[in-house]
Amino acid sequence: MMNNEKYERAIKKFKKNNIRITPQRQIILDYMINSDQHPTVENIYHALNKKFSNLSMATIYNNLNLLKDLDIIIEIPNPEGGYRYDFFETPHIHAICDNCGKIIDVDFPQYQEFDEEIKNAVRKYNFSPKTSHIEINGICENCQKKRPQ
Ligand code: ZN
Ligand code: MN
Repeated sequence: MMNNEKYERAIKKFKKNNIRITPQRQIILDYMINSDQHPTVENIYHALNKKFSNLSMATIYNNLNLLKDLDIIIEIPNPEGGYRYDFFETPHIHAICDNCGKIIDVDFPQYQEFDEEIKNAVRKYNFSPKTSHIEINGICENCQKKRPQ
């Protein structure tokens, strides 16, 4: 399974950085790999709380920060405050609605190539690039229908 490979690659990063693989971490990682909803901490808490009632909001938050530090997920500022999170093993473009905050993963296969070229350009400044993230702001289809301009 494709997702199992993603999971194994993430677990390898844990091991490489001497980070303990706790059951909580496994649950949160698994959830992030399988979600395409760009969830907030609250979303994740509500989704996992039914099955894992001992998983606190603080534990989720701390583990998201850890996954972020390992470049497994990224944090996207939420217009209403806080953050949304996304599994980001494969860098991709986000179209974000200024009105409702909806986030769309944009299908643009050439981005992988661009990403490498951009990182090479950055290296000319003796800067060591880690991740890149392109956001396009605008108005989603639903919001255009609701508020014609
Ligand atoms: Zn919208
Ligand atoms: Mn995404």
